[in-house]
Amino acid sequence: ALPLSQRVQTIKESPTLAVTARAAKLKAEGRDIIGLGAGEPDFDTPQHIKDAAKKAIDSGFTKYTPVSGIPGLKKAIVAKFKNENGFDYTEKEVIVGVGGKQCIFNLALAVLNPGDEVIVPAPYWVSYADIAMVAGAKPVIIECGIEQGFKLTPAQLEAAITPQTRMFMINSPSNPTGSVYTLAELQALGEVLKKHPQILVATDDMYEHVNLTGDKFHNILNATPELKSRCVVLNGVSKAYSMTGWRIGYAAGPAHIIKAMEILQSQSTSNPTSISQVAAQAALEGPQECITPMVAAFRERHEYVVNRFNQMPGLKCIKAGGAFYAFPDARVAIANLHKAGVINDTTDMALSEYLLENVGVAVVPGSAFGAEGYFRISFATSMENLRNALDRIEKALTV
Ligand code: PLP
Repeated sequence: ALPLSQRVQTIKESPTLAVTARAAKLKAEGRDIIGLGAGEPDFDTPQHIKDAAKKAIDSGFTKYTPVSGIPGLKKAIVAKFKNENGFDYTEKEVIVGVGGKQCIFNLALAVLNPGDEVIVPAPYWVSYADIAMVAGAKPVIIECGIEQGFKLTPAQLEAAITPQTRMFMINSPSNPTGSVYTLAELQALGEVLKKHPQILVATDDMYEHVNLTGDKFHNILNATPELKSRCVVLNGVSKAYSMTGWRIGYAAGPAHIIKAMEILQSQSTSNPTSISQVAAQAALEGPQECITPMVAAFRERHEYVVNRFNQMPGLKCIKAGGAFYAFPDARVAIANLHKAGVINDTTDMALSEYLLENVGVAVVPGSAFGAEGYFRISFATSMENLRNALDRIEKALTV
């Protein structure tokens, strides 16, 4: 076979998508599988958003659009940043991409060179490290375990910075842990970053609206506005409006970086789908109450899941501030199962395999997020599924 590029050989398939695919395959074979791997809301896209898209199709809005997005959506994004976050961006400083993922991908390719280092606190969203590697850069993973609430400390950040550090990724609320930085914690990280002007700060706010506590949302730019000239804010409609399949994300930042992202986009996807852009504009400009029932359901499930996990042998789970994931520490459970001879390895991979094979529950091992000894479940599924899945996990852990 012809050899593949070195670039593609440095990266791996997204493990969360792989788990989802594996669970779907077993299900198709007739196995009774409950999938808790998927990272998407289990709600339908709100009706007014779908209606806007239908109208776009019927009116013939089905052609190429400007590369960086249609003016109406860009205006809506500028207004969103102003009204919800207090940020002043112009339309030249925002870009619409094919999902939040493409925005992160374009950002990495626009600013990183081979040899550059990207600081990624772990547990991290699976794609940050691989996207940095596609750009030839080196992810510098910093472990932030459950004992520190899965949050990076200023001392850890300072210690990880080298002359090669070019970018710092921060994600709050976090996928996979749901942890949320307080304004004071962000300020403390901002103080460190102020001393290192070569570092670009990328804040991934994808779960801004999946707010489980009701506390006001803050990102690092709210805490340290001085970083604005070297900060890129990433967000999207996928999680907030249950629009994962529409593939619309957006970014805001310094005009020269946004322009570079636009040039890259012009040579890859050209523009995000015209119809989806109209839908995303309706999402941002329409009634925001459509988010409320989804978040209310996530809150109820979150309470349930965290309480249950903490009653299971060998698991420890802390409350999340946002997103729709629980990330229990399973190190004791793994050791117990291994001692009992139920699993033949002391890894989270062995635990996940065991749960899938023996009780038909698909979870994602923590090692996929740079945190060995944990696992992630998504509670973006019905209470009935959750009750059933947690009963099964409990049974599997009781040896
Ligand atoms: N950022 C985080 C933290 C995510 O969890 C996800 C999706 O799982 C994304 C970005 C990408 O979202 P999109 O589906 O819009 O590409």
